[in-house]
Amino acid sequence: MKLGLIGYPIKYSLSPWIHEQFLQASGIEGEYELFEIKPDTSLKKVIKDMKKSGVKGVNVTVPYKQQIIPYLDGLDPVASSIGAVNTIMVANGKMIGYNTDGVGYIKGLNDMYPDFLSRQTKCLIIGAGGAARSIYVTLSKYGIKHMDIVNRTQESAEDIALLGEKHTATNVLSWREAENKAGYYDILIQTTSIGMKPKINEMIMSLDNVKEGSVVSDIIYQPIHTTFLEHAKRNNALILPGHVMLLYQAKEAFEIWTNQKRNVTHLIEPLQHILEGR
Ligand code: NAP
Repeated sequence: MKLGLIGYPIKYSLSPWIHEQFLQASGIEGEYELFEIKPDTSLKKVIKDMKKSGVKGVNVTVPYKQQIIPYLDGLDPVASSIGAVNTIMVANGKMIGYNTDGVGYIKGLNDMYPDFLSRQTKCLIIGAGGAARSIYVTLSKYGIKHMDIVNRTQESAEDIALLGEKHTATNVLSWREAENKAGYYDILIQTTSIGMKPKINEMIMSLDNVKEGSVVSDIIYQPIHTTFLEHAKRNNALILPGHVMLLYQAKEAFEIWTNQKRNVTHLIEPLQHILEGR
């Protein structure tokens, strides 16, 4: 089975390692190839070539998660409301787009902290980019009743708030409001790129007021232990690092392609070692 990833730059992507584990465990012969597409390339041609190549499934990463949509033959309803795609399934010559980031986030959370998430869970989403959109839409569909957003560009946060289901009440906060109110939330989800390698000492907002026993997650996975998570730990919060979501969003993609369910819990530690060795 031919699988792959479209994006730029993707030389150091961990997706080949993850999907090779899945292929082996499933007993499926296959390969996961990196299709590094430079930004000035015609996506129309890329899609045409992919259809010809016999590829069965493709992941999509920055900067193409939104740009690729007009070239696809269809979108699954979740990807359609998110407006971004991270997984493409090729069937009968048609390419259908999906988004597994949000469901990957929730499943990773449920793996690390079973029974923590309920409709009453109060969430704060920090950031309003593509990943935040996916997590917000999926949590709202899950039934979350109260989910606030804080972002540098408030308009982007307001756009995301429009994507919620009727039962989800959302306020767009300023940084000061978010910091003062941090203790109100059961889960805080850091989705910006602040704190990523090499600027590992940066932190998007203070966690001084976070409440003990709340879950603080950072979807950044390079480094795994971001400054944000270190601060959360010091304030007695539980932490959820980004490589867990990375594994679960990949698991969801693999299931779409192969219809096979894979267990990923045993891969969390090996992936952590790989990332820590970089
Ligand atoms: P994106 O669409 O480009 O969004 C970037 C976000 O970061 C926006 O909210 C942006 O705010 C904020 N931001 C960027 N620079 C900032 C700055 N200097 N000050 C304040 N805010 C800033 O990116 P994305 O695709 O959502 O990805 C975001 C992060 O999540 C990346 O680190 C990516 O690697 C990670 N990610 C992880 C997984 C996983 O599986 N663990 C999956 C997807 C993404 P503005 O709106 O104001 O620009």
